[in-house]
Amino acid sequence: MTTFEDLGLDKTLLDAIADLGFETPSEVQEKAIPILLETETDLVALAQTGTGKTAAFGFPLIQKIDSNSRTTQGLILSPTRELCLQITNELKLYSKYKKNLSTVAIYGGASITDQARQIKRGAQIIVATPGRMKDMISRRLVDISKIDYCILDEADEMLNMGFFEDIQDILSNTPDEKSTWLFSATMPREVSTIAKKFMHSPQEITVGTKNAGTSTVQHEYYVVSGRDRYPALKRLADTNPNIFAVIFCRTKRDTQSVAEKLIEDGYNAGAIHGDLSQNQRDMVMNSFRKKQIQILVATDVAARGIDVNDITHVINYQLPDEIETYTHRSGRTGRAGKSGISMVLVTRGETRKIKAIENKIQQKFISKTVPSGSDICGIQLHHLATKIKDTEIDNEVEEYLPAIHEILKDVDREELIKKLVSAEFTRFSSYYKKSRDIKSGDRGEREDRGERRDRGERRERGSDRSNREDAPTSGSVRYFINVGEKDDYDWMTLKDFIRDTVGLEQDDIFKVDVKESFSFFNSDASSTDQILATFTEFKVEGRFVNVEVSKNPGGGGGRRDGKRSGGGGSRDRGGYGGGSSSGSGRDRSKKRERNFGKSESSGNRRSKKRSGDFF
Ligand code: ADP
Ligand code: MG
Repeated sequence: MTTFEDLGLDKTLLDAIADLGFETPSEVQEKAIPILLETETDLVALAQTGTGKTAAFGFPLIQKIDSNSRTTQGLILSPTRELCLQITNELKLYSKYKKNLSTVAIYGGASITDQARQIKRGAQIIVATPGRMKDMISRRLVDISKIDYCILDEADEMLNMGFFEDIQDILSNTPDEKSTWLFSATMPREVSTIAKKFMHSPQEITVGTKNAGTSTVQHEYYVVSGRDRYPALKRLADTNPNIFAVIFCRTKRDTQSVAEKLIEDGYNAGAIHGDLSQNQRDMVMNSFRKKQIQILVATDVAARGIDVNDITHVINYQLPDEIETYTHRSGRTGRAGKSGISMVLVTRGETRKIKAIENKIQQKFISKTVPSGSDICGIQLHHLATKIKDTEIDNEVEEYLPAIHEILKDVDREELIKKLVSAEFTRFSSYYKKSRDIKSGDRGEREDRGERRDRGERRERGSDRSNREDAPTSGSVRYFINVGEKDDYDWMTLKDFIRDTVGLEQDDIFKVDVKESFSFFNSDASSTDQILATFTEFKVEGRFVNVEVSKNPGGGGGRRDGKRSGGGGSRDRGGYGGGSSSGSGRDRSKKRERNFGKSESSGNRRSKKRSGDFF
């Protein structure tokens, strides 16, 4: 078995490695380190998240840096502030026995003058995000004209985030004769473009999916109907009492609302997405790292910096638009030698995307059904019993025991167990007694098949509302609501308002037709109770908002209003298509909840941030 000594690392590094407790090199380290130590070469290394890439470039870089010179010799570009800090910290640990080596992190959202001051004191290694780096170059606060090594870490993610031009700009400020080392989990076309453009006959290393050090991730999918997504998620969490998970949603809004619902339902959950300040995100990430948060709900962009090792599950609440993104998501679990499960909630129409992912990742998904209420109760009971059995006895209870024995003296062991378990168990059993089981999404398909199928397909095409108008109306209910244009609604903001208020999914409200002082809309019949219940005695700013089932069932609605429908349609497309954007219409509808009947004045960003609730 290869050791770190065998790779040619010097004593200062070996001592640091011993302190870190790394025993044997991971595969990417074993392959990359000797090449990088022995030759001056460009290198492309492909290895999944969690395979130890930081040390694969960090060890040779540190060994090769001349720490007696204060010149900046190494530049590492990394996609996010979190990764930047993480790499910097790692490099500091690796180089702790190497005198006079200084590594400085450069990233946005912190004082540029402080960072410039640190650079000025001498930084042989700079770890930077592309945006801030470019900024510092243009202000002449850094000099990278003499670097020997440039490392592009998580190159695929940097390109995903649109840093191509920044990277190009930055590289144009570096000397030609440097070595460039590119590390990436995947090799999309954009990455090979970079490699071709900026590297000279690079050596290539690929580390298979089953590297030493990383165990495989099991991929599972669950077919559910759109409106069962949330209950299914809850069940998956309840089936895994020790879950430590990241849940991915496509939009900031869904991220926020799923986290809020989980918190309301008593889970230790938190959200991380782009509408939170850096400070808030840091707080959430810290709680997650400390496991005070058990379930982190995240957007793809915000999750890029998640550097937590023992994540047990990744749950794809919705599938991402890009298959690449799925690879990044599932790579958050199964890190550092641990096993992990990546679960996907899909509607029937989306199952073919599973096939596409299977081809990409060269691994089969297991098709699973959402556990039944009684399964979950069984699992929870078992968990509880195990927990009791494994609980260490706290000697301080001793003094209270006589009194407790007195109370329980007539309860025999059998009965005691039942009572003990029931106390905790009732919470679950009473919830699951009431809820029907989630079958694989074909429940009720008969009555609303056309509607749903149509919906699923349209979403995949990123298509607009106009298709909706041709959907059959059977199984759907039409409502009257006493707000309209005079309250500043258009069909899109009204749709968002209703959906957000009731807590429905993206496409659950449709055929919204806004008139002067009232409007109509449709929903699936299965949401009727929920909608009517929500709008019972419902007031906004002192005014009642009423919803009634319309006397004109299944009315054609919005379609006749050619003008608004057309204009709105294209805006809707923007909203969906962006994936992570929370379109302006939505912001507005949120605000509307608060500022009903007022002019659009107060800051919508601020009013939207209910997130403060869960820190
Ligand atoms: P990547 O950049 O490939 O996603 P990292 O470099 O962040 O992976 O490493 C993932 C984790 O594995 C880190 O916690 C790191 O400290 C640890 N690690 C790296 N190399 C080794 C090793 N040879 N032995 C044990 N742990 C390691
Ligand atoms: Mg890394």
